[in-house]
Amino acid sequence: MVRALREAVDETREEIVKEGINKSLPHSILDKSYSLLKSYTSYNLKPVINATGVVIHTNLGRSALNKKSLDNVVTVSQCYSNLEFNLESGERGNRYSHIVGLLKEITGAEDAMVVNNNAAAVMLCLTALAKDKEVIVSRGELVEIGGSFRIPDIISQSGAFLREVGTTNKTHSHDYLGAINENTAMILKVHQSNYKMIGFTEEVIIEDLTALSHKHNIPVMFDLGSGCLIDLKPYGIHTEPPVQDIVKKDVDLITFSGDKLLGGPQGGIIVGRKKYIEILQSHPLTRVVRVDKFTLSALEATLKEYVSSDTAIKNVPTLNMLLQDLDLIKKRARKIASGLRKLIPDANITVLKDSSQAGGGSLPGIEFQTYVIKIKPSKMSVNRLEKKLRNGKTPVITRVKDDMITLDSRTVMDNQLSLLFESFKNAL
Ligand SMILES: *Cc1c(COP(=O)(O)O)cnc(C)c1O
Repeated sequence: MVRALREAVDETREEIVKEGINKSLPHSILDKSYSLLKSYTSYNLKPVINATGVVIHTNLGRSALNKKSLDNVVTVSQCYSNLEFNLESGERGNRYSHIVGLLKEITGAEDAMVVNNNAAAVMLCLTALAKDKEVIVSRGELVEIGGSFRIPDIISQSGAFLREVGTTNKTHSHDYLGAINENTAMILKVHQSNYKMIGFTEEVIIEDLTALSHKHNIPVMFDLGSGCLIDLKPYGIHTEPPVQDIVKKDVDLITFSGDKLLGGPQGGIIVGRKKYIEILQSHPLTRVVRVDKFTLSALEATLKEYVSSDTAIKNVPTLNMLLQDLDLIKKRARKIASGLRKLIPDANITVLKDSSQAGGGSLPGIEFQTYVIKIKPSKMSVNRLEKKLRNGKTPVITRVKDDMITLDSRTVMDNQLSLLFESFKNAL
């Protein structure tokens, strides 16, 4: 309390120097100390309301977990667990055993494991299988995703050598064939994730790559990035084959994120041939990038939702938000607009059709139809309101477009509506 009062007095002194004495000085000192006091005991990492419409928003924590997954984290973590203990034999167990069965069943792969994130998964595979040897990658797939993950840099960090083939727009099967030599450790295919090439382009499809490499006894790895576990074709999305389909193409190792389209906790999932997964599991780097019980308990619960596509779409928030009915989005938008009209009767508030994106390097170029609420306040500038909403107790992250605050109804969760209204009330 003393610290809060001192800081408040200091701040007020500075204000007086700058702006002169204000009549309500004692009140302002008390108000300031009160909010400082609250800030000492509140958490810095906190929930926000995502009104951007970007479902897999990396800066806003990517995928929200569903209740069952959260509950499972609490249940498993508040006491001891069988994390690495085999209850049947009474001996030391394997921490991956809790999710291997599920991942094998869902994807059809021979074996599976999970590490800290997909970047770690890629790094681990390269280090364990290709160190001091060559990895063949098409020049059209040397991607950079957010947060400085760049394929050439990761390959060089792993101790492997990048062997680029083809050109930016076109890579042919004979380009790969011509690059294979006695020092080749792997052919790597990388999902383009966050960009799309159009026009005079060509890539070698994965089944041709596996046929070619297996003839030469070389493993093929596919860094899928997002990695979707359900078929999106019924939803009009034909560019993202599910992991199950890739497994069928005889790919030796497939890596993907736990918190992109899968909608679970942060994690790097590796599925593929048992003989390679075994090499990975016994590599020292695995210990460095291993997952904890939070990840495993959340992932196990999320994977259980994949018992069918319908269940997953219903119960995994990321899929649910991405594939939700346009009517529902519209209804929510109208509800938000009418709530806001009551709060700010003099503002200009409209509901409009717009489009949102998946985000997180997933489904590039695909526009999802949505409804947005546009707000033009009359007593405050748009930028000031945007900032106040962002700095409130429950921050609301919005977009400013055409000098209007834009809220995308898609990513505003139904259980956050009253918080949203409260945040507006406070901001105003
Ligand atoms: C997102 C992505 C990664 C990194 O995954 P993280 O889970 O963020 O570590 C790696 N490769 C590709 C192609 C990606 O899209």
